[in-house]
Amino acid sequence: MSTQQDIRLLSKEEIETRLSALGEPKFRAKQVLEWLWKKGALSFDEMTNLSKPLREKLSTEFVFNPVLEDVVQKSNDGTVKLAMRLHDNRIIEGVMIPEDDRATACVSSQVGCTLSCSFCATGFLKRERNLSTAEIYDQVTLLNRHAARSNNGRGLTNIVYMGMGEPLLNYDNVMQSIRILTSPDGLNMAAKRITVSTSGIERGIRKMADEGVKFNLAFSLHAPTNEKREKIMDINRSNKLEDVIAALNYFYQKTGNKITFEYILFDHFNDSLEDAENLAKLYKQVPAFINLIDYNNVEGVTLKRAKPGRRDAFLNYLKNKNIEAKVRRSRGDDIDAACGQLANKH
Ligand code: SAH
Ligand code: SF4
Repeated sequence: MSTQQDIRLLSKEEIETRLSALGEPKFRAKQVLEWLWKKGALSFDEMTNLSKPLREKLSTEFVFNPVLEDVVQKSNDGTVKLAMRLHDNRIIEGVMIPEDDRATACVSSQVGCTLSCSFCATGFLKRERNLSTAEIYDQVTLLNRHAARSNNGRGLTNIVYMGMGEPLLNYDNVMQSIRILTSPDGLNMAAKRITVSTSGIERGIRKMADEGVKFNLAFSLHAPTNEKREKIMDINRSNKLEDVIAALNYFYQKTGNKITFEYILFDHFNDSLEDAENLAKLYKQVPAFINLIDYNNVEGVTLKRAKPGRRDAFLNYLKNKNIEAKVRRSRGDDIDAACGQLANKH
């Protein structure tokens, strides 16, 4: 018996060749491909316009490893958190956040994370492996099904790579997943509705810029000087702020997309007016928006969410300097679904 191949690792041409070897007409490959990506099938059995014998043949010829929904949690605010099981029994998490006329999926790019930022629940997990393109895509498919139930069948309107893992350390699979999500053969989603968040990997940022990507980039800044940032993010030791800022400028030049600076406010760590002043200095160096983020307290972390008074003073300082800044409220924190709380308790 020939060794089975994962059907979703095959190109269109390879699938055509394999199906014609099975005696299938040419249009069959198109039907199968449509199920695999555009229609987001999660098994051969869901491919209902194929005959049963063909579906059986496909399942003996190919491997199909879907991501499966494991545990569903619903927050009071409508946010849905999914724990999803991979074929090797590892668990990842993704979140669907409904808002008036939109629904955003937050997806993971790795099992665990390569890095270990001191404030992040995912950072406490050991990195086990990268997710494949199909595994990233399946999270979107599953979250899309929940979105369709919550916003009148409209489904997902936005996707953010802000779940578990550092997307730019799983570069190829993340880029390929976005290519399919934005392709007419996939979800046909506008690239402008996709955001990749990075802790600041200079090389990856430059590579994306060179590829002329169209999606948005968010940079997890969280502290406005190298000295302070190194205390909470190890990645800053090898990727210094000035080098990352230069790479972000390069990204802006190539794509025309402003960068989103994400800045978690930590009580008496980075929430003083002096910090705001340093942040304002960085802001001047690259076209950006600033998102101030309410920290979701994580068990075992001494850093805590900034007090509302200090947060407002910080925001006002920036506003008075005409800086584009806003506070991003946390969603789904009653079920630990908020960013950085994605650390499965299994
Ligand atoms: N690894 C990437 C993407 C995943 S983290 C990155 O670091 O950017 C997504 C965002 O959630 C990042 O900005 C991250 O710093 C932030 N985050 C992590 N832990 C958090 C927490 N407990 N509360 C709020 N935001 C958190
Ligand atoms: Fe990884 Fe991002 Fe969490 Fe840092 S903040 S540990 S890079 S997921």
